[in-house]
Amino acid sequence: MPLNKKPNKLESVSRALRTLSAGNRTLLRASDEQELLREMCKVIVEQGGYPIACVGYARNDENKTIQWMECAGMDKEHLQALFPSWAGTVVAKGAFGTAISTGKRSVATHVLTDPAYATSAHAQLMELATARGYASVTAFPLQVEGEILGALVMASADPEGFNDEELKLLNELADDLAYGIASLRMRIEHRKAQEAIAHLAYHDPLTDLPNRIHLRQRLEEAIELAKRQHHPVALLYLEIGQFHEINEILGHHAGDQLVQQLAARLAGAAKLDQLLARVGEAAFALLVQNAGADDAATEAQRLLDVLYDPVEISGLTIDAPVSAGIAMFPGHGSDAEALLRRANAAVRKAKPARGGYAFYSGQEQENALRLRLMGELRQAIGRNELRLYCQPKVTIASRRPFGAEALVRWEHPLHGSIPTGEFIKLAEQAALITPLTNWMLKAAFSQAYAWYEAGLARPLSVNLSAHDLHDSRLVERIRNLFSTWGLPPELIQFEITESALMEDPASARDTLARLKELGIELYIDDFGTGYSSLSYLQKLPVDWIKIDQSFVMPMTTSRDSALIVRSIIELGHNLGLRVVAEGVESQALWDQLGTWGCDVAQGFFVGQPMPADRFNEWETQWSRGPA
Ligand code: C2E
Ligand code: MG
Ligand code: MG
Repeated sequence: MPLNKKPNKLESVSRALRTLSAGNRTLLRASDEQELLREMCKVIVEQGGYPIACVGYARNDENKTIQWMECAGMDKEHLQALFPSWAGTVVAKGAFGTAISTGKRSVATHVLTDPAYATSAHAQLMELATARGYASVTAFPLQVEGEILGALVMASADPEGFNDEELKLLNELADDLAYGIASLRMRIEHRKAQEAIAHLAYHDPLTDLPNRIHLRQRLEEAIELAKRQHHPVALLYLEIGQFHEINEILGHHAGDQLVQQLAARLAGAAKLDQLLARVGEAAFALLVQNAGADDAATEAQRLLDVLYDPVEISGLTIDAPVSAGIAMFPGHGSDAEALLRRANAAVRKAKPARGGYAFYSGQEQENALRLRLMGELRQAIGRNELRLYCQPKVTIASRRPFGAEALVRWEHPLHGSIPTGEFIKLAEQAALITPLTNWMLKAAFSQAYAWYEAGLARPLSVNLSAHDLHDSRLVERIRNLFSTWGLPPELIQFEITESALMEDPASARDTLARLKELGIELYIDDFGTGYSSLSYLQKLPVDWIKIDQSFVMPMTTSRDSALIVRSIIELGHNLGLRVVAEGVESQALWDQLGTWGCDVAQGFFVGQPMPADRFNEWETQWSRGPA
């Protein structure tokens, strides 16, 4: 249809419809705001046959500036020069300004013949209208998050303007555009929030340095690279001595300032290719790639020199004695955890007379550190420094939450969070499992009661160690806890690893049978790693099998793992047991487990372990479904 021919009603409705549907496709495809505006204007002109389409944003500044964002059918700069502002009288501000100030669509018809436009101020505009073949203009306000952001302006060749039906459809198009702008902006906000959360997870809030988790990851990557390229890696561990005394005498605020000042000095000294992290309350670590022992010693000396001068805090001059320990890959350890532990152990050997730093020199240092850690774990249990974390489980078929697993956490005041598997092992060696299990039982019952009180039927499962199974008083203690809290038995469950069961199968079975008498549901944890026989399994009074994450995680890439997982699910079901998969880290794993009929999933895809008071928030989010 030629642009300047007057369209009949049917034609105008059908071109508006065409524009609307092409506009919707644009809306779905656009990945940023500018692109969305550009494409939308283009669609209106190219698909709809309207001579001009533009989007302008109304600034609320002194001049009430219009910022023309995109325009099709004419030059944007030209438009900006003609219509710089939305202020003025109805006529002067035009359709755009009227739409902005009234919040309603506005239409200006007969622009070529209306005497209101026959002024010198409109001369250029008339020239434009004649040249571009339009005779009326309409503007639709764009309402984004409750505010009028700007307007979509369109011209028509018809001096009568647009008919009602057509206007209704175009209005819908403008509303869709506004919705598109809002959702793209929301997506950016979302991304920013996610980045902020990721930053929080990987950075220390006091110094904004990378934290221990971050360092561990980067150290693992550095080790992988070093293995391929055959070069060494050095890890320096820097500990502020007497930090507790400083905290006690001068207060925590002064302690924080001390850490911040030392962190700033270290950050200034660290080179671009090194990673500096805060790994404990009074400890920093520096990762130096491709560095031999000589380089590591030079770096340690350089950093200790930087920290040597006293620190000024609230008018006081404080000497902060810092010592450094060094561990090398591959000489002192071949994984991140070992290097961290050993660099830390080496700090104790550092003497000011010998430069204030020392290399890791063997098991003896590590044993000393372990011994100290055992003592500290004992204190931590006594001082209630452990934390209860809960990790959700979800029924796969219905996506409904199915309780949680209770997992213990230890935030060491100096060394930061200690990996759970590591201190559980320590507790097992130091005969600390009984006090640890007792702590956990109390915490779990009290939490289960809080949920029960709030009307939430959310079973909480507690892990038991091999040692617990031989503790003759365990079952009695659990019975007492049930009567203390008045909890129904289905709200507490227990998980026992397959390997713990296999340590002493007969006595394990006996303990499980007594727990079962209390009406409690039981899980075999880490199933697949403990080599239990089918006949033994049949005799165990358990309700659930938990497939170990080492089979679940590689399932989508390893046929062996897939086969094992599938067989365990079948085996479990044949024995009348329900099956949980742990380590469900992705949608792909979730989907695959679902098709194989696995009952329940647990893993990072569903939710990370979290403090119990964040559980309700998780559940709300989960029930909203995928973002
Ligand atoms: P578990 O009982 O098999 O618990 C599951 C472990 O896998 C947890 O590690 C959990 O954080 C981790 N996990 C869960 N989903 C995923 C995932 O998708 N990907 C990966 N990579 N990991 C996942 P956590 O908390 O470090 O605990 C390690 C082990 O320590 C536990 O293994 C359990 O055997 C033991 N444990 C934890 N809390 C206690 C406790 O209170 N008492 C006893 N005796 N043992 C405990
Ligand atoms: Mg478990
Ligand atoms: Mg497990």
